[in-house]
Amino acid sequence: MMKKMQVERTASNGIAAAKAYIHVSPDLSPSDYPVSEKGMEEEAERFFKAKGEVLAELEGMAGENGIFRSYAAIAEDATLEEEILTRMRETNCNVQLAVAGVTGEAAAVFEAMEDEYMKERSADIRDVAKRFMAKLKGCSLSDFSCITEPVILVARDLYPSDVAALNLEYVKGFITQEGGVTSHVSIMAKDAGLPALVGAQGILSMVSENSWICMDGKTGEIVIDPDMAERERFAGKAQEYERRKARYEEAGRLPACTRDGHVVRLCANAGNLEDVKTAMENQAHGIGLFRTEFLYMEKDHFPTEEEQFAIYREAALLSPAELTIRTLDIGGDKALPYFQMENEKNPALGWRAIRISLEKKDLFKTQLRAILRASAFGHVRILLPMLISLGELREAKRVVEECRQELMQEGKVCASDVPIGVMVETPACVLLAEEFAKETDFFSIGTNDLIQYLLAVDRGNGKVAGLYDGFHPAVLRAVGRVIEAGHGEEIPVGMCGELAGDERATGLLIGMGLDEFSMSPGELPRIRYGIQNMSYKQEKAVVKEQAHGASDLA
Ligand code: PEP
Ligand code: MG
Repeated sequence: MMKKMQVERTASNGIAAAKAYIHVSPDLSPSDYPVSEKGMEEEAERFFKAKGEVLAELEGMAGENGIFRSYAAIAEDATLEEEILTRMRETNCNVQLAVAGVTGEAAAVFEAMEDEYMKERSADIRDVAKRFMAKLKGCSLSDFSCITEPVILVARDLYPSDVAALNLEYVKGFITQEGGVTSHVSIMAKDAGLPALVGAQGILSMVSENSWICMDGKTGEIVIDPDMAERERFAGKAQEYERRKARYEEAGRLPACTRDGHVVRLCANAGNLEDVKTAMENQAHGIGLFRTEFLYMEKDHFPTEEEQFAIYREAALLSPAELTIRTLDIGGDKALPYFQMENEKNPALGWRAIRISLEKKDLFKTQLRAILRASAFGHVRILLPMLISLGELREAKRVVEECRQELMQEGKVCASDVPIGVMVETPACVLLAEEFAKETDFFSIGTNDLIQYLLAVDRGNGKVAGLYDGFHPAVLRAVGRVIEAGHGEEIPVGMCGELAGDERATGLLIGMGLDEFSMSPGELPRIRYGIQNMSYKQEKAVVKEQAHGASDLA
C-alpha cells in the first residue's frame, strides 16, 4: 500500500525513484572480555596496531576526499590516545571497551554543542571510532559492492566513509533515519549531486526490501510504493529538475550580469580548502568570506602561524580574484576544545570574535601575520567580525600595521596594500555605517547575526525561528542604509550572510545596489541564473517605489 512521508531536513537536491536497499551496519559493539594485569600490555599493543592500520587506511583515502585527512587527524590525536590508555589502566578494561567509552564521550561533547557544524563533528569521531572497532574486532566495514542495480539506500545513519564507498552508477539517492543537514554525509551528497534526505524518522519501519521509493531531495517528499499516478508525477519532477540543472549549467558559463548589462560580483563562502575548490568549480568570482574558525576547531591546539599560512596561501592560489579572510570568530556558540572560556549566560552577547582577538593579541597577531604573508600569493582581504565601535576598528588596523612592520623587518614578503573590511553584523555598526565607511576599505553585511541582533531573535532557537526574518522591514532598511553609507564613501558593499543566497532576495538586493553576493558554493548556479534573467533598471525602480511607501512597511 502506498505510504507518504514528509522530511523537514533536506540534505541534497535531486529527484530519484528506485527500489529500496536497506543497509544494516556490521555489529561493532565492544566485547566485554576480562583482562589480567599481565594482559594489559597486550591490550595496549592491540590498540597501537589498530591505530597504525586505521591511519594507513585513512591516509590512503585522503587523496580521494579531503574529509579523510581530518579523520586521520582525529585517529592520530594524542589526547585521545592518552585517554584510551589511561582508561584501560585505571579501570582495568579491555581495549574495545576503552575505545568505545572514550570516543563515545568525546562524540557526546560535540553532540551537545549548539552550533550545527560542531554538533555534526560528533559523526566524524564516531566514524573514526567505528574504524578502530572494526580493526579490533577483526571484522570488515560495510560493503556496498553487492549493490548491482539501481537503488535508493535506506539506513539508520551513514558515515562519510560509507558515502565515499557508494557506487553512484547504482545508488540513486539515500535516506537516513538519523543525521543532520550540515553533516559531512550531507555535504558529500551535495558535492556528488546525489539526492539525499536525513532525519527521516521512522523510515526503517515503513520500508522493506521489496519497496519502491520516490524521493525529492529539495522538498523532503518521500513516497513508498507509489501508485501509477505518483510514479508519473515523480517522472515529471525528474524531467523538470534535469531541465533546470541544464539551464544552471549553461548560466555558469556566462557572467553574473543582468539582462541590461549590470554586472554583479558572485562570490562564495568557504570554511576550508575543499569549499574553495568547490567554489571555483562553480565559477565563483572569489571568496567573499573564508570562515577561519573551522581551521581552529579541527586542531587540538591553536594553529601556528606556519599552519595557518599554509592554508591561507593555498586558498589564495586557488582563488583567482579576492580571498576575504575573516579573523577568528569564536565564542557565542562556537567553542574550541583547547581554549577554556567561562560559561556565559548570554554567549551571543558575550566574549566573542573581535573582542577575543583584541584582548588576546598574541593569537590575533599570529593569525594576522599568516594572513599578511599569504597576501603575497593572491588578492587577500581581511574581514573583521562583530565590530561595534570605531575604536575596535582603529585598534585592529593598528595591530595589522604592527604585524606588517615586523614582517618587513624579518624580510618576509607581503602585499603592500591588503584591504581591511568591516563585517556589518551588529545594530551599532549599522547606525555608525557612515563613520565606519570613512575608515574601512569595504563592507560585508553579515545578515545571519545582524537579523538576530536587530530583531532580538536567537538565530539558533527553533522556538522563535518563525520570527527570524530576513525580509523584516527593519532588516531591509538596515541593509539599504549600509549600502548607501558605503557608496557615499565609494567603498564596495557585499553581503555574506545567508540572505545573499536566498533567491527571493536577489532582485531586491540588486535594486538596492549591493555590489557583491557571497554564499555557499552550491547556491551559486541558481542565483547566477536568477541574475541573468532580471533587469537592473526594473529592480531599481521597484526599490525606489518601495522606499517612497516605506512608512507602510513597518
Ligand atoms: C553572519 O553573521 O551573517 C555571518 C556570515 O557569519 P557567521 O554565520 O559565521 O556568524
Ligand atoms: Mg556572524
